[in-house]
Amino acid sequence: MSEKPIISIVAPVYNEEEALPELHRQVTAVMEQIGEPWELLLVNDGSRDGSAAVIGELHEQDGRVKGVSFSRNFGFQIAATAGLEHAQGDAIILTDADLQDPPTVYPEMIAKWRAGYDVVYGVRQSRVGETWFKRITAKLFYRIIHRITSIDIPLDTGDFRLMDRRVVDAIRRMPERNRFLRGMVPWVGFKQIGVSYERQVRFAGESKFDSVKRMLPFALDAITSFSYLPLQMATYIGFASAGIAGLAILFVIIARLFGPYTPLLGQATTLVAVLFLGGVQLISLGIIGEYLGRIYDEVKARPLYLVDEKWGVGEKDEG
Ligand code: UDP
Ligand code: MG
Repeated sequence: MSEKPIISIVAPVYNEEEALPELHRQVTAVMEQIGEPWELLLVNDGSRDGSAAVIGELHEQDGRVKGVSFSRNFGFQIAATAGLEHAQGDAIILTDADLQDPPTVYPEMIAKWRAGYDVVYGVRQSRVGETWFKRITAKLFYRIIHRITSIDIPLDTGDFRLMDRRVVDAIRRMPERNRFLRGMVPWVGFKQIGVSYERQVRFAGESKFDSVKRMLPFALDAITSFSYLPLQMATYIGFASAGIAGLAILFVIIARLFGPYTPLLGQATTLVAVLFLGGVQLISLGIIGEYLGRIYDEVKARPLYLVDEKWGVGEKDEG
């Protein structure tokens, strides 16, 4: 039995077979400098390449490497959650498996944690080698989220962060299916601080979050998890159009009674007004649908994920 790890490094893995041995090498180099007992927990999120086999091999070579493998792909948020559930450390560092979040930042994070901070999040100074599309959309997304949600999600942070055990336990008590960790961690509170770092180029493989198709559901989950503003918009627009309609009615009556009669409202005007309001109503229905679908997911209360195989971890400890 190896000694209980103090620091857990958790990385979700989806088709990262080439990066894993290098991740293990760099994590080992950094953690040996620090000298605390550690583990590297890799959560294989239904990879289609040889990632699962690589995790098994790394575990054979080095017992500090542990792994959980899902029955299929469940998505980054769920894989990260499973990592938090199976990690044993007093502090847990969540990182990309592709070495975009360099292990050389760990010592600074651990030092801040030792100084009493519960969450130490990485603030991206630069985004080397990312497409401009990704950079613009990410910037816009963070700014919008900042505006419309009540919790303080720090700007330009990703999921790379160190969390104290009590933060992790708090997150484990949040059972929601539509998970947005970048908002859930600030929601928890405690003492949080950022350290800046240079986001690196991917070591190998390709990004799984660089198309509108992948980013849009992520953004919708983020917004619906933390804001009712889209729902309230229908109310505001409703009041605004009722107000305008009220004024228009008055205007039409007065024009009819006192003015020289002119046919103010032709067919085109009517058509435009009807189509506009029809559009607004459909959009409002769609917004309600976004929330409704998520409520449906929650009430079904299916398990967050299913495990296929494990290396070096027991049953997740219930606590
Ligand atoms: N990932 C995952 N499940 C997925 C997609 C991604 O576990 O469905 C992992 C992936 O292997 C990586 C991390 O999540 O370790 C972040 O993904 P990626 O690097 O592709 O995103 P980016 O850094 O480009 O935003
Ligand atoms: Mg990445």
